[in-house]
Amino acid sequence: MIRNKYTGQEIEFSCEVFPPKRDDDIYEIFQTLDAIEDLKPDYISVTYGAGGSNSKKTAKICSYIQNICDVQALAHMTAVGMTKDTLAERLEELQKKAVTRILALRGDKPRTMSEEEFEAREYRYASDLIRGIRDFGGFRIAAACYPEKHPESPDVETDLKFLKEKCDLGVEELITQMFFDNEKFYRFREAIDRMGIQASLHAGIMPITKVNQLGTSVSLSGSSVPTELSNLIARYSEDPEGMRKAGIDYAIRQVDDLLKHGVDGIHIYTMNKADVTREIYKAL
Ligand code: FAD
Repeated sequence: MIRNKYTGQEIEFSCEVFPPKRDDDIYEIFQTLDAIEDLKPDYISVTYGAGGSNSKKTAKICSYIQNICDVQALAHMTAVGMTKDTLAERLEELQKKAVTRILALRGDKPRTMSEEEFEAREYRYASDLIRGIRDFGGFRIAAACYPEKHPESPDVETDLKFLKEKCDLGVEELITQMFFDNEKFYRFREAIDRMGIQASLHAGIMPITKVNQLGTSVSLSGSSVPTELSNLIARYSEDPEGMRKAGIDYAIRQVDDLLKHGVDGIHIYTMNKADVTREIYKAL
């Protein structure tokens, strides 16, 4: 917990890392974690490969966070590719590693999966996975949410209705998709308050430190990019160090404004970069 310098309230600070593609690079992520650990985040979450492709690595990294860094690990898990048996196996594996927090997601269709296989999945939505984890018992469950609605949702109201369904199953934290316009987050927060959603809402902040980041993760997320940010990217297209500084500064200004508006938690999409995370943390 850290104290909000504007409101005096305690808020949660957390980070997200992803498993490296190559097995040999796993020690690099351990070094990143060693460099984040002393910030004492409330939890560090670890992503899960599309369709469960690298679930072993997710569990291994979570174990390092939980047992070596002594920080709570939050394991991401997706419904896509999951069966009743594999779910029980994955949950038992996490329990053996003393990992008791899960971010339960639907997941997207992996490139290698056919449309038919995706449509035939045993756990259709995140809510079905949440029910499975809840029935197994012993885990604190978090879920994803989308201030600008999930890209597949026909409208905000429909998306919120399904979000409420997830929360009614006992979700304790909601982590937002990245967003770059805080007004969108405030409007979303008002809407979920009106629906009586009680889960703690953690704002997902993605520092844009490289020009090409917008082309990959951001465009897939469906998050809109304000003119101020796209202008920065245009300005620093030939200047990587300038882009890094401007991107961190943008994220810090976003976080500062969120603190002024009394946010429950700040979740940094670290992109496995300890230095960037530390700079944002200092500003908190
Ligand atoms: P859901 O909550 O199931 O929603 C998916 C869509 O279905 C939405 O449009 C929703 O409105 C709709 N819907 C929900 N329930 C129903 C229902 N009962 N009937 C009809 N429609 C319904 N992906 C990964 O592969 N690995 C990760 O580690 C990962 N981490 C993530 C972390 C965060 C914080 C976020 C925001 C996303 C993450 N994702 C990850 C991406 C995520 O898997 C995708 O965004 C996915 O498309 C939706 O997942 P969800 O859990 O939000 O799905």
